[in-house]
Amino acid sequence: MKTQLTQLAAALVASLILSACGGGGDANPVARGGPPLVVDAIGVSSFDSTALGLSLAALPVEALSVAEKDSLAFMREEEKLAHDVYAQLDLRWGATTRVFGSIAKSESTHAEAVRQLLLRYSLSDPAATSAPGQFQNTTLQSLYTQLTTAGAISLVDALKVGAAIEEIDMVDINKALLSIDNQDIVLVYQNLLKGSRNHLRSFVSNLALQGITYVPQYMPLADYQAIVNAPMGRG
Ligand code: MN
Ligand code: MN
Repeated sequence: MKTQLTQLAAALVASLILSACGGGGDANPVARGGPPLVVDAIGVSSFDSTALGLSLAALPVEALSVAEKDSLAFMREEEKLAHDVYAQLDLRWGATTRVFGSIAKSESTHAEAVRQLLLRYSLSDPAATSAPGQFQNTTLQSLYTQLTTAGAISLVDALKVGAAIEEIDMVDINKALLSIDNQDIVLVYQNLLKGSRNHLRSFVSNLALQGITYVPQYMPLADYQAIVNAPMGRG
């Protein structure tokens, strides 16, 4: 449920941001309210903070269910997990490939997008003071250790870790969406999914360059095939 005052404030913020961008030209269509997720040529999918702010400002702050509240805390740390694992794998394999460094930057925008939702609902941030590789959720803490250990073995193992993280993200987000109806959360989660589909395609194509055909471990085969057989998504 949204108050008149919240609506007014949101409209004011949106108009201030719009006027700050100036008029004329198509130099930065995203900043004027384009899609919040920006996809580059190799599929790295990052949130544009201005466009995301505009998109969120246009949506109501609705009553939050327990499932929605719990999911936001979990997703904040799950996106941090993706970032922290890729940052670690970039330290290990960065001289050979830029894929982990590029996607780590993208994941920091994913984690930030979920943090923006926590702020919108005045919820505490479980990752507020966590160091890299540190998580409040014990399942994610174990997963971090398992994935960084596996990814240190070889480049192929590291790329498989990347594909596995994207699969796990999509399975978790799709499951969470079953009990989420707030429009702002759905907007962010749908874009997190889009980002994960593109990242999965990147890791799978990098594995193909190494002569490896990736076999999905977490998601249904048909869903996996539909993703890898589709082109990189834009927007
Ligand atoms: Mn992500
Ligand atoms: Mn990702």
